[in-house]
Amino acid sequence: MEAQRSSYSLIVLHNATIVTMDSGSSVFRNGGMAIEHDRIRAIGQSRDILAEFSGTAGEIIDLHSQILLPGFINTHIHTSQQLARGIADDVDLMTWLHHRIWPYESNMTEEDSFISTLLCGIELIHSGATCFAEAGGQHVTGMARAVELLGLRACLTQSIMDSGDGLPEPWANRTAEDCIQSQKELYRKHNGTADGRIRVWLGIRQIMNSTDGLLLKTRDTARELATGIHMHVAEIPYENQLIVNTRKVNHGTVTHLKKLDFLQKNLLAAHTVWVDDTEIEFLSNAGVKVSHCPAAAMRMLGFAPIREMLDTSICVSLGTDGAPSNNRMSIVDEMYLASLINKGREVYARGTTDPTALPAETVLRMATINGAKSVLWNEEIGSLEVGKKADLVVINPSTWSMVPLHDSISSLVYCMRTENVVSVMCNGRWIMKDKKILTVDEEEVLSSANEASAQLLRRAGITIPSRMTVL
Ligand SMILES: [Zn+2]
Repeated sequence: MEAQRSSYSLIVLHNATIVTMDSGSSVFRNGGMAIEHDRIRAIGQSRDILAEFSGTAGEIIDLHSQILLPGFINTHIHTSQQLARGIADDVDLMTWLHHRIWPYESNMTEEDSFISTLLCGIELIHSGATCFAEAGGQHVTGMARAVELLGLRACLTQSIMDSGDGLPEPWANRTAEDCIQSQKELYRKHNGTADGRIRVWLGIRQIMNSTDGLLLKTRDTARELATGIHMHVAEIPYENQLIVNTRKVNHGTVTHLKKLDFLQKNLLAAHTVWVDDTEIEFLSNAGVKVSHCPAAAMRMLGFAPIREMLDTSICVSLGTDGAPSNNRMSIVDEMYLASLINKGREVYARGTTDPTALPAETVLRMATINGAKSVLWNEEIGSLEVGKKADLVVINPSTWSMVPLHDSISSLVYCMRTENVVSVMCNGRWIMKDKKILTVDEEEVLSSANEASAQLLRRAGITIPSRMTVL
């Protein structure tokens, strides 16, 4: 505790381009910021901040014209799947799920989940994320231990299913009531822990593994606990078809969720690729948030109608999805892909590409303030403003990937690489400085991750066929 208190003294950052992402889109060309404890005390022109705070600051940092941004928010990620990176590349969807991911996840221990989340967290921090929304894993307690150590902020969710074909044996007998009780217990145990950095959400893995009873209990429990619900929605045409056949609605998942009165402001719908115009209206009217995962969508799902969703004022944010669906857990990469893919998608929507679709400032909003709204935390994070939590990243634009810098906002989306992220602060505490992670031993995590993943694959009986002639 002593060490924490001393690292929480007043910090002044100055001589930076500060992209605040506030409602007025304010950018300070030579800005400064004072951070007290875990919050932003003041923000403005460098000279004013220095004049007011340099006498009392414990640390004054000249950022030498580097760029300050709010920490990125990854709104759909499977931290437990990090040890599964590379186990399901270029396979069909059924092989992906039944022969790789389910055996992997159902053989995980809490310790595996802890190591997997540490490994994932290292990639998140290097790529400038300060907050993430877990899509649902088996061992929330393992994840929570890792998040506490890493110094990140997170909405953690258990993987929840109460029905469906082909489920691994340990998952097959859970009732809706078991699912709710287990999540309530996790909520009591972990919500608000790690200096308030951890929140516990409710999960629905996907509609094909949920009875209507589970959906309704989840909706009501989320209301009771005042928390959010994270769910994969309308991922593949087969899902919609199955819902049309079994639940007697005329389109698919979103239409059915609307019928159940499940669509609410606290629902974070991941992917949401296969929706029609009426369903987009349903989502918009209900205030549902959508997590767009461009890389995973291109690999497995298809083109989501993101421009149309943004046009109807749906809050769309960005996620990476898990390592076996994407391999890269960097929102920096997803910003670039979101912009390109949605420009190109206009060929299908309107007959020609549209280079003006999803401009850089929109994409930057998706990665920051929209992310904060999506995880129901925008009163405290998502933009750099007085009174908000000090969650921020320092970007060095003076490298080959970003020079020259004629338009800093577009450069952040089109040129920036993960390697341009140099320092990261979460909750007022530096968790990475000059590319060195300060909270965990990176080398140690890499080595235990290699060991744990090899053992886990052996236990799960997963073998990866070789693609070439290995001599
Ligand atoms: Zn997912």
